[in-house]
Amino acid sequence: MDSSLYVLVEDLRGEGVEKVLDRVRGYGVAGITVGAVHHESRDITPHGLSKLTLRHDGAHFDLPGDLFAELRLVPPAGYTDAFDGLLDACRARGLKVHGRTVFLRNGTLGAQHPDVSVRNCFGDRGFPTDLCPAHPEVRQYAVALARSVARLGVDSVVAEGLHYRPLKAERSFVPLGPMDAYLMALCFCDFCMARASDLGVDAGMAREECARIVGGLLEGDAPAEGEVTRAALTAYAGPDVVGYARARCATVTSLVSQVADAVASEGSRLVFVDPTGAVKGYRDGLPSPVLAAYDGWQLGVDPVALSDLMLSFTVLAYARDATRVADDVDAYLRSVGKDRQVRAVLRPGYPDSDSADRLTAKVHGARAAGAHAVDFYAYGLASHPVLDRIPHALS
Ligand SMILES: [Zn+2]
Repeated sequence: MDSSLYVLVEDLRGEGVEKVLDRVRGYGVAGITVGAVHHESRDITPHGLSKLTLRHDGAHFDLPGDLFAELRLVPPAGYTDAFDGLLDACRARGLKVHGRTVFLRNGTLGAQHPDVSVRNCFGDRGFPTDLCPAHPEVRQYAVALARSVARLGVDSVVAEGLHYRPLKAERSFVPLGPMDAYLMALCFCDFCMARASDLGVDAGMAREECARIVGGLLEGDAPAEGEVTRAALTAYAGPDVVGYARARCATVTSLVSQVADAVASEGSRLVFVDPTGAVKGYRDGLPSPVLAAYDGWQLGVDPVALSDLMLSFTVLAYARDATRVADDVDAYLRSVGKDRQVRAVLRPGYPDSDSADRLTAKVHGARAAGAHAVDFYAYGLASHPVLDRIPHALS
């Protein structure tokens, strides 16, 4: 079974490439998935040179001038020397290198160009971190970014954030049910609405329904009970909103198609990351009962449609329970087809894995369910004792 360890460039810089790669090799993984383009974050880094590490939105390589010369959206420059000698150092150790690329999550670009960020049913652009997948300039940006990472010579371009994102308000003293949060996250920018209209959806009615329901909630209506399903959504918000949700999937699928073509034209291949399992289990490793493969549509991710475009998918199996990991992998393979490859990302420590045995059980569960690979997240975020569980789990 294939495998990799996620590594971020700040961790390589802090500890030194040779030292980190020697450790990675010792874990017995087949490669690294390195953050070529990453988003801002502030991370506790247990064994890093800094114990609190600030990461910035940025591309960690020199941008090819020909790809971005005509574009308004250009990624901020990160550590542009991060890939200098990295591929050679990996290959000298027999390690593959996958280029993790965060596409539409970029608060720096969204703050500079608010018009390309998502706009909710009230007309608010409250999420500069979330670039809209329907915006033509965002789509051009994604294609150029994909080409750039492919040109680094990586074994694959691992596409993260190539979809819509869920609502993440920092403070709300109004209780929101899952369905209300879903409605409030929907983008109703001109481009999303036009794409939905092209598919025969009454986008204006969908927006009005969202504003009516969420507006009522903000004025004191009780939040909706229960998880988001298409049936529940139909009953709660009506067929126009459900049709609008379907149009979002078409928007994402066509964007992924463009990006996959761009990567292939540079001689590499795209791996699509479906983050639904992380949305469900990120906080505590206790995802809600519906398997991730069946909830991806809420982010515009349609695994069945995407399976026509690419061979390889990554699911974020953020769960404590090994059976749940196996079930998520199995359901995903059923959606994309048994001839497709599914990689499962596991967190080797808190909050998903409290022991080496638990991690081992999850690796075995993923493998038994037909996973092509397991990846571990992430080198800089996990302590040494937690990372030391990996060779045991892979044996
Ligand atoms: Zn939009």
